[in-house]
Amino acid sequence: MPDAVKVGFVPFSAAPRGILAVFCDDTLKFGPVARKALGPVAALVKRAAATNQFKGKGGSTLDILEPEGIKIHRLIVIGTGRPSELKEKDFLKFGGALAGKLNSGSEAVTVIAELPDNPMDPGQAAAMASGIRLRAYRFDRYKTKKADGDDGALNADVSLAVEDVAAARKAFAPVAHVVDGIVMARDLVNEPPNVLYPEEFARRAAELDKLDVQVEILDVKAMTKLGMGALLGVAQGSARPGRAVIMRWNGGKRGEAPVAFVGKGVCFDTGGISIKPSGSMEDMKGDMGGAACVVGLMHALAARKAHVNAVGAIGLVENMPDGNAQRPGDIVTSMSGQTIEIINTDAEGRLVLADVLWHVAKKFKPKFMIDLATLTGAIVVALGTEYAGLFSNNDELAERLHKVGLETGERVWRMPLGPEYDKLIDSQFADMKNTGGRHGGSITAAQFLRRFVDNTPWAHIDIAGTAMGAPKTEINQSWGSGYGVRLLDRLIADYYEK
Ligand code: MN
Ligand code: ZN
Repeated sequence: MPDAVKVGFVPFSAAPRGILAVFCDDTLKFGPVARKALGPVAALVKRAAATNQFKGKGGSTLDILEPEGIKIHRLIVIGTGRPSELKEKDFLKFGGALAGKLNSGSEAVTVIAELPDNPMDPGQAAAMASGIRLRAYRFDRYKTKKADGDDGALNADVSLAVEDVAAARKAFAPVAHVVDGIVMARDLVNEPPNVLYPEEFARRAAELDKLDVQVEILDVKAMTKLGMGALLGVAQGSARPGRAVIMRWNGGKRGEAPVAFVGKGVCFDTGGISIKPSGSMEDMKGDMGGAACVVGLMHALAARKAHVNAVGAIGLVENMPDGNAQRPGDIVTSMSGQTIEIINTDAEGRLVLADVLWHVAKKFKPKFMIDLATLTGAIVVALGTEYAGLFSNNDELAERLHKVGLETGERVWRMPLGPEYDKLIDSQFADMKNTGGRHGGSITAAQFLRRFVDNTPWAHIDIAGTAMGAPKTEINQSWGSGYGVRLLDRLIADYYEK
């Protein structure tokens, strides 16, 4: 889907056109470029601010139509709060807040990218530009009619006026590829399950070959040969055959061990024979949010030519009830050789991940593996939709993820692992069982995964609360959020590209 909002950069000296947006702090102070552009309107802004109780709080806006004495037809003032406290995520939010004020239609917008005390630096301007694009995202390809009052997609042409155009363009170029990756992940999560089933998902992932990503698709025959009995046990109940996709981006030193990302891609999860109640079952089209994030991330890394070797691996299945579906009580043999007693067929994500994790650990010997999965309802009970659950066998990796989470706003909260929890998944008939009961449900799921990573440094991020259906934010109005792409792209950029 073409992006309907265009964002570019112009010099401070460019004459504003159409809509003008400027920034002020919590004392209503403007920077010199904004003051010059506002000219005689500055006094009107003060009066309008008083009438509207606008106090310049971070991300708040003041909207003035047809201001007299200046050649623009709308002025939007964006509050920065106290500018000394601003982080990257604040600039994303400013961009989102601005895009949220724009109506549809083809509108020219000039934004003076200047804080009251200094011009925005290139990174800040780039973050602002991403915020605009992320907010403008819509998924409406299946709507043939528009609702009343809905004029369709935002079609604005936004120019950010900056101090150094070349530097801003240079800073935005890689960030724009990350935004593309997020858009891709959101699209995948939002797609209906009759359209996006394992083979189709694999086909879309394979399009990454245009960016020089090597893509290998494992079909049922190939997975059978590898002995992926845990994944195939889930897939066997569906008329749609399962797939695994291995994506490789080699932007780092030749021969250097890769970093690896593994995604749960359950294209639809009915629960299988342990079928779910019908309420909100439609949301289970999003049970592939982990795989969507991995594909979006691989896009971002390849498109911005990240200096890293990276593997992205996703397990794609549909979990359906059927005459051929797996039963509670079945015992399957995973690729690792470990056997698993199926207690509840709705605990399928960990079965899919078990084989993909093992395969990646053995084949690529990565520096670390991070898996993302909409794995448990229990993590939503524990953390709500603000934090994803983080589990790890490696303190350094966990701390890095925590840190980049705070910077990007895609936050993670570390949960415990330990032998006491591990005991809960021992089985009387097999090496383990696939659920450990209600208590600590996210933790026993993570303990299960840990049995398939061997000694590889590993982190598991349970995104059941953050990948889809989370409350709308300034930069995300979409059901599928694309959570994780910015987090992991930043992890790579900050720690693994040196
Ligand atoms: Mn399930
Ligand atoms: Zn699931």
